[in-house]
Amino acid sequence: MAINIKRPNGTEDILPKNIHKWYTVEKVAKETAECFGFKEIRIPTFENTDLFLRSVGETTDVVQKEMYTVMAKETKFTLRPEGTAGTIRAMLQNGLLNEAMPQKVFYLLSCFRHERPQAGRLREFHQFGLEMAGSASPCADAEVISLAKRILDKLGLKNIELYINSIGCPVCREKYHKALRAYFENRRDELCETCQSRLVKNPMRILDCKSPICSEIAKDAPLILDYLCDECSEHFEKLKTYLTNLGIEYKVNPKIVRGLDYYTKTVFEFVTTEIGAQGTVCGGGRYDGLIEQLGGQHTPALGFAMGIERLLITMEKQGLDFLDSKSCDIYIATMGDAALEKAMVMARNLRECGYCAEYDLVGRGLKAQMKYANKIESLYTIVIGDNELAENKAKLKNMETGEETVISLGDKFTDDVDSVYISKIIDSLEDEINPLAENNNGKENKENG
Ligand code: ATP
Ligand code: MG
Repeated sequence: MAINIKRPNGTEDILPKNIHKWYTVEKVAKETAECFGFKEIRIPTFENTDLFLRSVGETTDVVQKEMYTVMAKETKFTLRPEGTAGTIRAMLQNGLLNEAMPQKVFYLLSCFRHERPQAGRLREFHQFGLEMAGSASPCADAEVISLAKRILDKLGLKNIELYINSIGCPVCREKYHKALRAYFENRRDELCETCQSRLVKNPMRILDCKSPICSEIAKDAPLILDYLCDECSEHFEKLKTYLTNLGIEYKVNPKIVRGLDYYTKTVFEFVTTEIGAQGTVCGGGRYDGLIEQLGGQHTPALGFAMGIERLLITMEKQGLDFLDSKSCDIYIATMGDAALEKAMVMARNLRECGYCAEYDLVGRGLKAQMKYANKIESLYTIVIGDNELAENKAKLKNMETGEETVISLGDKFTDDVDSVYISKIIDSLEDEINPLAENNNGKENKENG
């Protein structure tokens, strides 16, 4: 049998030529979260399976069909399908929830779900997400939504709609479940097999079913907003007021129930229609019961997660700018062994000053080295050979303008190089080029001292 060492379906290689796009999203997301007082948390890639059964919920698609679970030495582990469960587990286990509230953490992580791979739907994908624990106030909902919105805006994304809904608390949910059951019971036989069992266990899940027949039947189902208790209703009204005050446009979409069981009250999604069917770039909501469900004290909490791949697809589609990718500042081309030795030390000094410096590592001729310097888009090049070493001079070439400046290897660059950038290079080159000077200074100082 042929050995298959190809990357599994639904996974992606993120190549160096694209990494600056990831850095862009990661940087903007991190910095924005930090502006709101969130700190990063890093959690394990896999957890005890029970954690997800308990939190994500046994009747959800994620738990029923999408989890990667392995049996390892009699313990069942699951690759995290999302970040909330592990994050809350970590907050509980490490006592964060005993500290000053609210606790605010963010994360960047990969998630694993066995889904049918398609554009914007992978089996390993990446999320930026955050969780806030300890506030029951609708201000917190507005805060978290405005944070997500700020990230999307800072990335330059356009045409993204915010949909909000409230799915109530267990009190309103009970009445609503009754109404839903009564509604779906009439057409029970038409529902898919999964929804038939949902009808008994968790009828709200039927509203999230992707099967065309079930969604058609669900079209006229009762709406949760008509069943909210006073508290949930007031919470939702306040959230709407706060969003309006903050200038955040939203649409109430009573059909949003979200795919995970732990949500209560506010749920929201940021959706684009520009990248096809998988247009939800961010989903989140409140989960006031989850912490208790996982063994903690009753602690209201909420959060969201953004799909980084979907953000990137949308950014590309909209032709948005990414941060520049770091390229070589200065390439030192060499001819001969003595020049190579010189280049190694020069490169070390430049790197110590924070510049990206490279020289030939594979024994190319000069012409090929210059071609390589072009290919890696080096901003400057210096050529060093026997003549340059003998004369203590070399040419520093600006690769964009073609301008050449003769620099003295023994002493200083000529005066007409005046940018801070080059002067820093000069400083570092000087150290290496004229080590005697420094030694002498050192000696002098010692003698003086
Ligand atoms: P969907 O309705 O698209 O299946 P979901 O409700 O399952 O999304 P969440 O669990 O809320 O998604 O995850 C948060 C975000 O993670 C989503 O809004 C989406 O951007 C992203 N996401 C979820 N599943 C995938 C996947 N399989 N591949 C890529 N991104 C995903
Ligand atoms: Mg899903």
